Amino acid sequence: MSHSVIRTRFAPSPTGFMHVGGIRTALFAWFVARQSEGAFILRLEDTDQKREVEGSADHILAALGALGITHDEGPDIGGPYAPYVQSERLDIYKAWAQKLIDVGRAYADPYTPVELEAFRESAKANKKAFLYREHRPENPPEWDGTTPLRLKSDPKPYQWHDEVLGDLSTGPEVIDDIILMKSDGFPTYNFAHIVDDAEMKITHIIRGQEFIASQPNYLNIYDALEIDHPIFATMPHIMAEAGNKKLGKRDGAKDVLDYLKDGYLPETMINFIASLGWNDGTEQEIFTIPEMIEKFSLDRVQKSGARFDEKRLEWMNGQHIRLLSLDDLYARVTDFWPESAKDATEDKKKLVLGLVQDRLKTLKDLAILTDYFFTEPTPDWSMIEGNKQLSKLEAVEINTLLSEAVVSLEESDFTPEAIQETLNQLLEITGQKPGILFSLIRLAVSWAPFSPALNDTLAVLGKDVVLERLRTATSAQ
Ligand code: GLU
Repeated sequence: MSHSVIRTRFAPSPTGFMHVGGIRTALFAWFVARQSEGAFILRLEDTDQKREVEGSADHILAALGALGITHDEGPDIGGPYAPYVQSERLDIYKAWAQKLIDVGRAYADPYTPVELEAFRESAKANKKAFLYREHRPENPPEWDGTTPLRLKSDPKPYQWHDEVLGDLSTGPEVIDDIILMKSDGFPTYNFAHIVDDAEMKITHIIRGQEFIASQPNYLNIYDALEIDHPIFATMPHIMAEAGNKKLGKRDGAKDVLDYLKDGYLPETMINFIASLGWNDGTEQEIFTIPEMIEKFSLDRVQKSGARFDEKRLEWMNGQHIRLLSLDDLYARVTDFWPESAKDATEDKKKLVLGLVQDRLKTLKDLAILTDYFFTEPTPDWSMIEGNKQLSKLEAVEINTLLSEAVVSLEESDFTPEAIQETLNQLLEITGQKPGILFSLIRLAVSWAPFSPALNDTLAVLGKDVVLERLRTATSAQ
């Protein structure tokens, strides 16, 4: 089939949580639309009212919005094929169902659940697969919308192409009379998505593995409706870091908005989620969003499961944080400063931020990494005891080293260069290794688990503060 304009869609069900798998589907569909002059459509599939979770539609919009995955048509903004919420399109499904009834390709299901169960049991007893089509009623009643409507299937083999999985084929035995409309008046997902994709002129269906087994039946519906099907692309599973099971909430797969709240950048999330099953064929791991839009292709999406590695996500975030200009980073950390920075000037905050920029793994690290620039830290001797090298020193040795540091730094001009020189001299005077001397000074002025280069840290703190903290540390033991 040929379509001049690419139209892709993300069709989530409003069932809560916006996990990375869902976002990945949205993202790949968005890439495909954005790399041409195509359109990316958001459609809410709320036909399973039992599973619906209140507030999830807003949540989906918020998550996509926060990541910058913009849609061109959707429930919030409308579009030429509105409405974009399935529960508001019931008449459309009914009309399409009627078309199938009219051509003899759908019929009302006359059986009670008990009768159906009996068919199922007898198939089981005969060790046969249960096929509904083997029990087609001879004279089905007229469909009045209060019983399920089933497809009158046409069992036959299928061969089709999936952009990710390649050429696939199935035999007629997997085709059955699946339900199109339920007795509650709602269509099934199986039917509704086909109708909507056709009405909305969708060119690519990009979705998860869970639908692949139903694909032959979908092809049967397309045939019955005499319409072409869109291009299919089936995404690989996302696997938990350890073992071979699919990713679940317990494996660190939080809601994507929670990652943002925890100080992950939207571009990191996009880069990371895209890398779950896609690479550009080179070793490159860090991509900007425009680069990904340009380089993404469905045929480079892997078939096998992709592994979710939270450590890698953290590493990637550090890389993306480094790529930001100081002003850009400054604008994004507004909510992440320590309480102590409340009254600090913008100049001071930018100075501090510049110092720690390449140490931040998440924006959340900012508070703990910078608190001591804005307030007096409380000495915590357990940090010395917990340090492998420093724990070997006697208290009096520590005091001597700190006093020596005070004496030398008092004389220093306190530019980063001058401080470095002083620190180097101090190494000679004390005969200590940098790992010991510098760690000690670092802790004594910051009482933080890690900090930027020592000379820069001291320069930003300023001479008075540094000397005072070193003196406090000397007497604090
Ligand atoms: N509503 C389906 C889901 O949330 C979407 C599947 C599709 O993309 O067609 O799983």
